[in-house]
Amino acid sequence: MSINRKPIVVGNWKMNLSLSEATGLAYELSEQLEDIAGVDIDVGIAPSTPFLSIIAAICDESAIGISAQHMSAHLSGAHTGESSVQQLLDVGCQYVILGHSERRHVYGESDEQIAQCARLAHDLGLIPILCVGETLQQREANQTLDVVLKQVSSAFSQLTADEASRSICAYEPVWAIGTGHTASPEQAQEVHAAIRKHLSELYSVAIADSVRLQYGGSVKPENAEGLMSQPDIDGALVGGASLKVNSFNSIVQITSKLISQT
Ligand code: PEP
Repeated sequence: MSINRKPIVVGNWKMNLSLSEATGLAYELSEQLEDIAGVDIDVGIAPSTPFLSIIAAICDESAIGISAQHMSAHLSGAHTGESSVQQLLDVGCQYVILGHSERRHVYGESDEQIAQCARLAHDLGLIPILCVGETLQQREANQTLDVVLKQVSSAFSQLTADEASRSICAYEPVWAIGTGHTASPEQAQEVHAAIRKHLSELYSVAIADSVRLQYGGSVKPENAEGLMSQPDIDGALVGGASLKVNSFNSIVQITSKLISQT
């Protein structure tokens, strides 16, 4: 992790937790992360869409940022079940996760849709967390970098250099999400370094050096240190382990401590 990039850990709650569980978790996290969130490290949580405004209100006094898990590629109109970027801003979001592998693979989201969402997010002031990652089959066929870098090119294709530098990119190998199989620190670093090099070719070395790259895929307190100490890994996108206050808190603390030692 580089000292020039503020680390960022975001918890993706997916379609989990009842309202009382979600509010309880938000209260506990606000308390436990009071001293470090926003200071040494940026911390975000991504509750399910119906809970966004209530969780945003709970976290209002803390520096925990609120992320949506998905947004529409359209500004408004006849798009049943979707949420617009303005609606997400209205309920207190600062971030939006785009192109999560579950959205790509289960709901058929295309690279073009993700690029369009990234464009709209920046137009209205929401920070996109752009997810990329290969399937197991693609890794085994030695296609990892081809697949990931193509997704990166597309996700950033409509963004200016300044917008790119404010974006977050999450490398999440599909085979590591929710499976308990984590990429080794070396495997993750290899892909992160390739993404940063690719961004330097798309923009410049300075812009590539400013983009925060998260790793996601079965991050837990036990494997966080190895992953977060890699030079091109600037934080984590955490699924399962973000649903428990202690494990998410530990991941945030470990990540934050590593940066202060850099
Ligand atoms: C995710 O959903 O983005 C994720 C990384 O999940 P998990 O940590 O459970 O693998």
